[in-house]
This record gives sequence, structure tokens and C-alpha cells, in this order.
Amino acid sequence: MTTTVQNFIAGLWTGDPSYERVNPADPSDLVAVAVSSTGKEAGAAVAAASDAQSGWAGTAPTARGRVLLDAAELLGHRAQEVALDLVREEGKTRTEALGEVRRAADVLRYFGAQGWRATGEVLPSSFPDTMVYTRREALGVVAVVTPWNFPIAIPAWKIAPALVSGNAVVWKPAELTSLTASHLVRSLADAGLPPGVLNLVNGRGSEAGEALVSHPDVAAVSFTGSTDVGLHIHEVAGRRRARVQLEMGGKNAVVVLDDADVARAAATVAAGAFGLTGQACTATSRVYCTPGIIDGFLASLEKSAGEFEPGDGRKDDVRMGPVVSDAQLRTIRGFVEKAKNDGASFLHGADEPDGLFLRPTIVTGAKPTADIVRNEVFGPVVAVLEVPDLDAAIDAVNDSRYGLTAGICTRDLASAQEFAARAKVGVVKVNRPTTGLDLNAPFGGVRDSSTNTYREQGMAAVEFYTWSKTVYLGHDRPG
Ligand code: NAP
Ligand code: MG
Repeated sequence: MTTTVQNFIAGLWTGDPSYERVNPADPSDLVAVAVSSTGKEAGAAVAAASDAQSGWAGTAPTARGRVLLDAAELLGHRAQEVALDLVREEGKTRTEALGEVRRAADVLRYFGAQGWRATGEVLPSSFPDTMVYTRREALGVVAVVTPWNFPIAIPAWKIAPALVSGNAVVWKPAELTSLTASHLVRSLADAGLPPGVLNLVNGRGSEAGEALVSHPDVAAVSFTGSTDVGLHIHEVAGRRRARVQLEMGGKNAVVVLDDADVARAAATVAAGAFGLTGQACTATSRVYCTPGIIDGFLASLEKSAGEFEPGDGRKDDVRMGPVVSDAQLRTIRGFVEKAKNDGASFLHGADEPDGLFLRPTIVTGAKPTADIVRNEVFGPVVAVLEVPDLDAAIDAVNDSRYGLTAGICTRDLASAQEFAARAKVGVVKVNRPTTGLDLNAPFGGVRDSSTNTYREQGMAAVEFYTWSKTVYLGHDRPG
């Protein structure tokens, strides 16, 4: 079944759909036809958001929170249907997709409850009979620009804190995943979100996205995506001093020390590298092993890789779906070919893909300076290198322009703590895959992975979407 996806502006579904999205697992399955917006639609959405924002900010926070909670219930009831669309549109497995949709519902619940929590603080004053307190004020109209790889969870963790804080939102999802985007909007609209408070503008980043982030009435931009696009948005929006939050690329490493449980370390790395088809910003793509474990680890990893044979995510037993698009496949294949030419070897994968199905690929013998070791591949490909000891491993992990997540597999607490202290990344995982996050814990990177100003998720998200006003409230005593 093909679904048409319109824009959602001022509470109305509008526009003539023309962009065709085909299932990456099955070219005969035309999943959606979506509107391809230009600056005109982006402008109309910002105008609608501007009109609606002050009314929404003036609504009781508990009433704003209630809309999010009701939307979570609706999304929960529709989870199977939405997950199937996500599988067909993005290529995830059913388990991955259902997990993501349920995560989005939980994110709405978590931030919905924020409507009942205290914000701001009360401070002691040096002035007589004066109370000092801070208020968290909404920013106004905020733009949310999101990637295709978590097409409903990432938008939820940006849009929910923005809305509960009293902002109006204009959202430009990735063009590849407009249908999944429309489900989130529908759940919020059906839950009673007033017209104009959330607007959906589908289309290409270079047109609709660019117009949105350059719009003078947009007070803040929250972006997740590639580093190149993120840095460009920072410049455009930063020029007018709009608040900008960027979560971008990663080149996430795992260190495996001699004392690790070899089978568990391999399973941990395989889950981080091949789960979600390696298309996660937190995916494991480099591994540094110490000499006593590397051979056993590689043998175990090869075995684990065999459990991730790619297939159509609609089938129940499939553990890894296809790559999202031809363009993504070409990028990944480019990295693998270059590694081959640079003299690297392959333990698993690296063969011809079948359509967009790419087998998990393990690269060995690559030089530390090779492209495959330094740059984000964003596919089921992992490079394994040998290092002499923990110190050298930490240096290798930190020798990167990125700093999103990093992991270590060890049974030694001192090594784990040393790594946690010295790894230059936003998230450290000990004996756990680099992928997989709690929605209530702050998330973000350092260096070229992030603006490293405001974190996402948890209560840290609310800080980004509000500004602090300080009030001195004096009261004169009678007489
Ligand atoms: P992308 O190509 O950077 O696109 C992200 C979003 O930006 C899309 O909606 C895109 O539109 C839009 N865009 C492109 N050019 C724009 C412009 N000039 N102005 C405004 N918007 C513009 O990223 P992607 O390919 O969707 O996703 C993969 C990347 O996301 C990877 O690098 C990955 O590491 C990163 N990522 C990071 C995190 C994190 O939290 N750090 C999480 C997930 C993914 P289109 O529809 O035209 O592409
Ligand atoms: Mg892209």
C-alpha cells in the first residue's frame, strides 16, 4: 500500500505529493509519496508557528504535558502499524522498528510529565524582603531537522521537550522517512495539539531545510545529522545568533583488553557494529585489541557476524535489514574498496551486495591513518586493529575528529575507570555496546560530533528549549 504524505501546516494537511520512497528491501514496494517542499512552504510553516506560539506558551504547563501523554497513548496503540511503515520506509528489522516506536512513545511520556515538574529555582537574596527566583521561558519558534536513521525516536526527543516548554515547532524530517515522520505528527494532532504548534515540512534539506534554518523568525535550531551539514547550519543560524544544538557524526571505538571475556566482547562489538545495519551515529566502527586477545576475539567476532545475515526486515527471523539507499550503499562500498586498495584484509563480508543487502564486514590490517579507520562509514563495517596496551588504546580512541561514544570490554575495574576518565567522548560504555541509550540520561558528543553546548535527552533537553529569566520580587512591609 502506498501512502501519500502531505505537509502539516497550521493544523491542516496540505500540498501535492511527488517524492517517491521505495522500500530498500523490496524495489517493487512503493511505500510513500511525499510533498517536496520549497522555501514557500517552510515560510508558511514558520508563520503558522509564530501565530500559535504565544497562545501555547500561555497554556498551563500541565495542559501541555497532557497533550504529550495522550499522544504517547495513541502512538502506543498504533505501534505495530507505525513500526511496519518504519520497516518498509527505512529498512530496519521489525524488532528494531517496534523498539524505536515504543521509545518515541516513552519519550513523549517522560517529557509530558515535565508539565507537572518544577522549573527554575528560588535563591536567597542579599536585599531585604526580596525573593529571587528564575523562570524558564520558551524560546519561541524552533526548527527541528532530523536524519533518517532513527526517524521517529530522534524527532520525539527534540519535539517533546520543545513543546512541553511552550515553544512552537517547525520540523523538517529526512526526505527518505517522511511517512514515519507523519505518524508522530498525527499522534500529537489527534491528542489535541492546537493548530500551528507543530508543523511538518517535508522535502529536501537543500531547499526546505535551508530555508527553515535561515529564517529570521526561527529562534533556535536543533539538528541531528552529518557533520558537514551540521557545521553549515551552525554558520547560517549562528550568524543571527539563533541558539543551535547539533548532534553529528561519530567514529566510535571499542577497546578490548586481554582480560575480557572473549565471546561476550565479540557479541558486544557485533551488536554495536552490525545492529541497525551499522547505521547509527553511535555504531561501533573501530576496535582496538591488546595482543593476548586479538586472535580469539577475531575468531569470535567472525562467528557473531554470521548471525547478522541481511534480509527483509518484514520477515520475523531477520536480524539485520538493508542499507537505506543506493547513495548510502555507494558510500559504504567506496570505503571498502579504498581499504582493499590500501592493503587491508577482510574476515567477513566485503563481497558484492545483493540489492541493498550488505553482509557485515570485518576489516583487519588497516593502517591507523586509513580512511576506513578515520572517517564515518555509517554501515555494517568494523575495522579491528592491534595496540600494545591500554594507554596506546586510549590514545588511538582519542586520535579522532569525532567524540560521540566509546566502549571498553574488560573485567578490570581500574582499567574501566581509567578509560572512562580519559576517553574524549560524550558517552562511555563499559562491557556494553556503543549503541543503545537511556532516554532519561544526557546524550551528546564532543569535538566534531556535537556543538557540545547543550545535551539532548533527560532534563538536559529542557535547558536547550528554554532561557532563564531572573526575577527579584520585593515586598514592602506595611508602615
Ligand atoms: P544529513 O545528510 O546530514 O541530513 C540530516 C538532515 O538535514 C536531513 O533532514 C537533511 O535533509 C537535512 N539537510 C541537509 N542539508 C541541509 C541544509 N543545507 N539545511 C538544512 N537541512 C539540511 O544526515 P543523514 O544522512 O540524514 O543521517 C546520517 C548522519 O546523521 C550520520 O552522519 C550520523 O552520524 C548522523 N547522526 C548523528 C546522531 C547523533 O545524535 N550524533 C544521531 C543519528 C545520526 P535530506 O532529507 O535532504 O537529507
Ligand atoms: Mg545524508
